[in-house]
Amino acid sequence: MEKEQRLVVITGGSRGIGRAIALRFAKENPRIVIIHYDPDETYAEETLGLLKARGVSAEAFKVDVSSFTATKELFDGLLNDYGKVDVLINNAGIIRDTFLMRMTEEDWDRVINVNLKSVFNCSRAVIRAMIRESRGWIVNISSVVATIGNPGQTNYGASKGGIISFTKSLAREVAGKGIHVNAVAPGFVLTDMTEPLPEKVKEAFLQQIPMKRPGKPEDIAGVVYWLCSEDADYITGQTIHVNGGMFMS
Ligand code: NAP
Repeated sequence: MEKEQRLVVITGGSRGIGRAIALRFAKENPRIVIIHYDPDETYAEETLGLLKARGVSAEAFKVDVSSFTATKELFDGLLNDYGKVDVLINNAGIIRDTFLMRMTEEDWDRVINVNLKSVFNCSRAVIRAMIRESRGWIVNISSVVATIGNPGQTNYGASKGGIISFTKSLAREVAGKGIHVNAVAPGFVLTDMTEPLPEKVKEAFLQQIPMKRPGKPEDIAGVVYWLCSEDADYITGQTIHVNGGMFMS
């Protein structure tokens, strides 16, 4: 399977964990599409540059994955151009942290829509084509917070818990059609998302990690890639925890 040129779509592929996933897939010479949203294209252009330097054919699209219509338009275009999507990595995510008593409806809706509704939007947009091909891989990026909770993250935790439930139900729907659907739940990973956290919060996370180091984006990317490989052919509906021991299932 690695020898074929797969079309790999990664939401939030412009930076952080998504970029590391794109670079991990680059080793198999796929065609890669990254989706991002920031009007500043710098990160997306950097990622495209890194992929192209590795000889990979790559494109970037600026689309808000929380929008059903915009996402459908993008995937309809990709399916028209490429005929198929082999791998979908639902990785785009945001945080809007605050205690529940201060959380606005907008904080709640935006996080649920970007983190969870996007997984519906993108998966819905590709699933028919994957069924037609009788193969496909979907990996959804959840979080350790889905399992252990975190004060100030009721919106984020709910979105990431929803992703785990979504993964199990979709996996059961399409397991007989040759499609693998799994989730990866990272622990504390150093990226632009976690960099702004106060030092004492970062230290508190580190105290909870038996391996005594934060995760690197590459720690997550390797597992995501493996889930889309022949070596993981008999795995579906699972959530793989990649967290240095922070949570053990
Ligand atoms: P990051 O560095 O902040 O990157 C987030 C990515 O999502 C960026 O590429 C961003 O695009 C994209 N994105 C955000 N909103 C979007 C939207 N509405 N439409 C399309 N793309 C959008 O975050 P990260 O740390 O790599 O996180 C990646 C995933 O891992 C997220 O789902 C996050 O919840 C999850 N995760 C992270 C950690 C951690 O410790 N870092 C732990 C557990 C789970 P732009 O660059 O264009 O803004």
